[in-house]
Amino acid sequence: MQDTCESSACVHDEFDREHLWHPYTSTHNPLPTYKVSGASGCVITLADGRELIDGMSSWWCVIHGYNHPELNAAAVEQIGHMSHVMFGGLTHDPAIELGKLLLQILPPSMKHIFYADSGSVAVEVAMKMAVQAQNDPRRTNFATIRSGYHGDTWNAMSVCDPVTGMHGVFGGALPVRYFAPAPESTFAGEWDDADFEPMRRLIKEHAGELAGVILEPIVQGAGGMRFYNPQYLRELRKACDEHGVLLIFDEIATGFGRTGRLFAWEHAGVEPDIMTIGKSITGGYMTFAAVAASSRVASMISEGAAGVMMHGPTFMGNPLACAVALKSTRMLLAQDWQGKVDHVAGLLQEGLAPARQLPCVVDVRVLGGIGVVELDHDVDLARFQKECVNRGVWIRPFGRNAYIMPPYLAVSDEQVNKLSSTLVSLIADGYA
Ligand SMILES: *Cc1c(COP(=O)(O)O)cnc(C)c1O
Repeated sequence: MQDTCESSACVHDEFDREHLWHPYTSTHNPLPTYKVSGASGCVITLADGRELIDGMSSWWCVIHGYNHPELNAAAVEQIGHMSHVMFGGLTHDPAIELGKLLLQILPPSMKHIFYADSGSVAVEVAMKMAVQAQNDPRRTNFATIRSGYHGDTWNAMSVCDPVTGMHGVFGGALPVRYFAPAPESTFAGEWDDADFEPMRRLIKEHAGELAGVILEPIVQGAGGMRFYNPQYLRELRKACDEHGVLLIFDEIATGFGRTGRLFAWEHAGVEPDIMTIGKSITGGYMTFAAVAASSRVASMISEGAAGVMMHGPTFMGNPLACAVALKSTRMLLAQDWQGKVDHVAGLLQEGLAPARQLPCVVDVRVLGGIGVVELDHDVDLARFQKECVNRGVWIRPFGRNAYIMPPYLAVSDEQVNKLSSTLVSLIADGYA
């Protein structure tokens, strides 16, 4: 790290490198990190003053842009009342108003909301709900599809893709789940019923052990950046109903307009029994998530052995997070978000199309505010990001997928075009 120095204007920090863990990094040879001094709109400013157009939405969560005056005001206003009070035995308007709004925009059958503190915790809660609702000591396992990602806590890990996920490291420590192949029929392509056959068989064979099936509807995010055919979810709903298996949609990444619908289930028109939302729920301001359940699931839990939903985190229903989530969701709904996400999709289609001509590119695909260039090899992250920063954009591929998903409500045409053209040129110039 020849450019490591000690001044606060330096983008690489020695203490950070020596003592702070970043996501999925080694302490011996950590990937370089770049120090940020601020972020506003769709621009991240580094400590040395360089400006980067944000192509990542800080991992799916920023939609209105950074440092948004209205979201800032909502946070300040709420802090003036209280930043936090316990949710055990107490309640407050931010939680109530947010709940009312969420129930208006979630699938109509969703009637009960559990506020969780992060996406992974929401997944844990959703899985606990399914087990409690079944109320049958034999029906405690889960099925899912390959190439999924559901978070980094224990049960969430257990349903992540067994190869790209963390099964290799945690092996026997993880509960063993049932995996069907990831759907091959693409989002807009033709449906091939053979695609659902393995899951159909799996559910039929193991129904007696299954509490639920959990998957990301339509878009598989961090596990593979895949967009699959809505018919898969319709078939899955039928199979789950036939065998009394609960269906959990993990919409933590897909929610709040990102895929071109407010929530991804709408592409298929089938409702889950339990649904998780998170990431952009606060517009990317702070960690927060929620689990929604149907009345049927809530009744099954309330009439089950425990009689109560067995979860209650310290920061449950945090008023500050609720207030910002309420504001963010109101702002989203008050604008032509549909027009904006469709427009961004069009720009990404056009801007990334030239990547198709490059020899190492396997596929280019766009859905809503997500543009993916799939390569035939893994990207060397440190080298790629260094050049990314040199060229004024922030893009962080994982594995073979280089993707762009800017804060879609705030990004300008010029910014989307610069992100796309820079990604294409980085690949063409051999940086990816
Ligand atoms: C990010 C993500 C999670 C985990 O959320 P965290 O807030 O990182 O714990 C779960 N499911 C999906 C689909 C995600 O994209």
